[in-house]
Amino acid sequence: MSVRVHLVGAGPGDPGLMTARSLELIARADVILFDKLIPDAALDGARPDAELIDVGKIGGGKQVPQDVTTALLLEHARAGREVVRLKGGDPFVFGRGGEEAQALAAEGIAFTVVPGVTAGVAAPAYAGIPVTQRNVASAVAFVTGHENPDKPETAIDWPALAAFPGTLVFYMGVRALPRITEQLVAHGRPGTQPVGIVERGTFGDQRTVHGTLGTIAALAAEHAVRAPAITVVGDVAALGEELAWLPDRPLVGRTVAVTRARAQASALAARLRALGATVVETPAIRIEPLPVTVPDLATFDLLCVTSPNGAERLLAAVPDARALTGPRIAAIGPGTARALAAGGIVADVVPPRAVAESLLETLAGETFSRVLIARAEEARDLLPDGLRERGAEVEILALYRTTAEPLDDAARAAVLGAEYLTFASASAARFTHAAAGTLAGPRIVSIGPVTSAALAELGFPPDVEAAEHTPDGLVAALLADAGGG
Ligand code: SAH
Repeated sequence: MSVRVHLVGAGPGDPGLMTARSLELIARADVILFDKLIPDAALDGARPDAELIDVGKIGGGKQVPQDVTTALLLEHARAGREVVRLKGGDPFVFGRGGEEAQALAAEGIAFTVVPGVTAGVAAPAYAGIPVTQRNVASAVAFVTGHENPDKPETAIDWPALAAFPGTLVFYMGVRALPRITEQLVAHGRPGTQPVGIVERGTFGDQRTVHGTLGTIAALAAEHAVRAPAITVVGDVAALGEELAWLPDRPLVGRTVAVTRARAQASALAARLRALGATVVETPAIRIEPLPVTVPDLATFDLLCVTSPNGAERLLAAVPDARALTGPRIAAIGPGTARALAAGGIVADVVPPRAVAESLLETLAGETFSRVLIARAEEARDLLPDGLRERGAEVEILALYRTTAEPLDDAARAAVLGAEYLTFASASAARFTHAAAGTLAGPRIVSIGPVTSAALAELGFPPDVEAAEHTPDGLVAALLADAGGG
């Protein structure tokens, strides 16, 4: 039998640094036990019916104790479920993954370990600090210890660390900085030695503060550096001032809420994060796949696919792409065309604007005898009505249903507290409104006229409407409004 329990590293924060193996296991898991410090989008690919257990906190409060986490892991493993224990960074670097592995081994439960990109290497790298460098540092030590300076026992051998011939990388909070720097200087490291502290490394809002052993504690306090942070001590830290490579990101410090379906990878969120925004993803829409039997397409002369979700569901419903050959294929929106292309289908028609009106205009003057529209169960009648008016017999293939996903208090507060609230569809606007009770607070950005009309109907006309009705267009409109483009 294949191994069903996996200790998996999710990397330091940038979703792009998750390994292919981690994504594959997340997509397969029955249960995912996850920590607080995982990338925002880490669970996007989880199955809609997977059980997602946040062991990073209890009801927004305290951390779940390690023995409870271990007990949960063993319980699900014993039940024979496919379990992913997802941890920030690497599971075996200060992640207590070793202890969890021991608990599994003691029970005779087989497991695999999927290494992750560890924060102690990645956060410095994103700040332009190589942790080793020829002629500068030929060794690196990863260090952690008690955060509390009043704790009498200390695991750190300060004299040995101070004498270590290379870079010191501390996985410790900022509160520990005064003690780290004092102890290192007291045991012989020069006060002039360069130090870099990287806050929220690889996240969109990463910050770096440079100083020396003598100055960094005060500088970090002055800049209000917060957890999580990596502190790099050694001459390599100074290279960060020369090698800083992260481009200027116009949305740093801005919070943007994005509505999406849980199972839908959010390209929009990724683009906003790349621009430095802190993205709040609100799962206000749930996509429920419907049982689908695709009719014989040889009897149709046009197949319209209206959304990326529809494209994915359609491809999933046929044995292979050949089942879709026959009719001309129209895709509304470049995202839909891309989703089809991922399954080997090239759309014959992609209207210039990503709305049904634009498809009708593009097809003006043409006649069709039988048309199949593959789409959500609930959708506007514009396209079927428009085609029927031209004499076509139109059949609807309902691939999925969108329903409202309730928001808990914390999620609601996060959405309404964001500076911007973006909507890429009318249903996203309606469901978010239904889940939050209001849309008051943030500036509202709409992807296009249909979404704007739905927003106006809810009493919240958008502040900004994208000129180009695509996720990129939406980002451009937001950037212009934020004064960054
Ligand atoms: N297993 C993790 C480390 C867990 S210990 C790994 O391999 O990266 C938690 C500590 O890691 C935090 O206190 C902080 O010092 C550091 N850390 C984790 N993610 C970080 C990030 N994105 N930026 C800076 N420090 C981070």
